[in-house]
Amino acid sequence: MSEVTAPRFRSVLDRFAAYKPGKVALSPEGRSFKLSSNESPHEPLPSVQKAITEAARNINRYPDNNATALIEAIAAEYRVPAEQVAVGCGSVGVAQMLLEAVAEPGAEIVYAWRSFEAYPLLVGLSGATSVQVPLRDEVHDLDAMADAITPETRLVFVCNPNNPTGTVVGRRELERFLDRVPADCLVVLDEAYREYVRDDNVPDGLTLLPGRPNLVVLRTFSKAYGLAGLRIGFLVAHPEVAGSIRKTYLPFSVNSIAQVAGVASLEAGDELRARVAATVAERDRVRDALLADGWTVPHTEANFVWLRLGDRTVEFSAACDAHGVSVRPFPGEGARVSIGSPEENDAFLTVAATYPHRT
Ligand SMILES: *Cc1c(COP(=O)(O)O)cnc(C)c1O
Repeated sequence: MSEVTAPRFRSVLDRFAAYKPGKVALSPEGRSFKLSSNESPHEPLPSVQKAITEAARNINRYPDNNATALIEAIAAEYRVPAEQVAVGCGSVGVAQMLLEAVAEPGAEIVYAWRSFEAYPLLVGLSGATSVQVPLRDEVHDLDAMADAITPETRLVFVCNPNNPTGTVVGRRELERFLDRVPADCLVVLDEAYREYVRDDNVPDGLTLLPGRPNLVVLRTFSKAYGLAGLRIGFLVAHPEVAGSIRKTYLPFSVNSIAQVAGVASLEAGDELRARVAATVAERDRVRDALLADGWTVPHTEANFVWLRLGDRTVEFSAACDAHGVSVRPFPGEGARVSIGSPEENDAFLTVAATYPHRT
């Protein structure tokens, strides 16, 4: 008999802590306000719920592996040929597909830091190396990011607006950056919060695609479309790029209910845009109230605000918890607070107004 040994795992797994689900904060009155994941505060529209209920009757069947109807609806909505669209299990799933297509040991992936928490996780799992370029005044430092590109760089993530700071880069700086990136390196413009942008100077990534075959625009149904629980993301890119990325699709990973709900949500665009407009108005109200209270809050074009609390981040997050308000703390750095319903936002503003230490 051989010695008993443990199953062998890739050493990269040792670098990741197991996922800890956040506990739900409860106020003394038993109320709970979840402002930690940038979700839509609204339940699905009646038309979308109806489509979901009907689709549930067919889940003994496999989904359409090509997601034909969903891809055609996305293509029609954004006025691009369907061959330029690829879908995945959330835009996190699409980001993993992109890395599956380009990453390998020795490859480098460049992104700003702090930015979206999924980037280091996905890059680590891919076997490639993360190259993190610090934000400058809470904004992507695109010059430093271009300087960080080496012959080994296969992909650069640009998160615009950036999660968790809400800050943006404008058209001219983004174009100048894209002009500097070598043609053999993909640039993935993560526009998860595009629908909340009101600054005209921030380009719609889709308008940058002509003449830029290494650009990929990443979008999601999880935020403005309110379908975070169903997991649908998509990319728009040149047909050769979209075609290569589709090869990495985990079969059937966009399920049939998600496909139907995505189509129904695109059909309900006007109602969803009205909800987004309400969130944008609340975002501006929340930021203005914080500024009036003496807080420093970077200008945000997303559905959240960022408070750089530094060493007080955990303490502030606990103070919010005590009032039933869950925020997203990044210990030692700051807290990200999603914009919810007016009632939820008021609950947060009450905590912020009574917190003794401003940043
Ligand atoms: C929330 C978010 C996403 C969306 O992820 P899904 O997998 O589509 O739910 C993507 N990118 C960023 C930067 C985000 O904040």
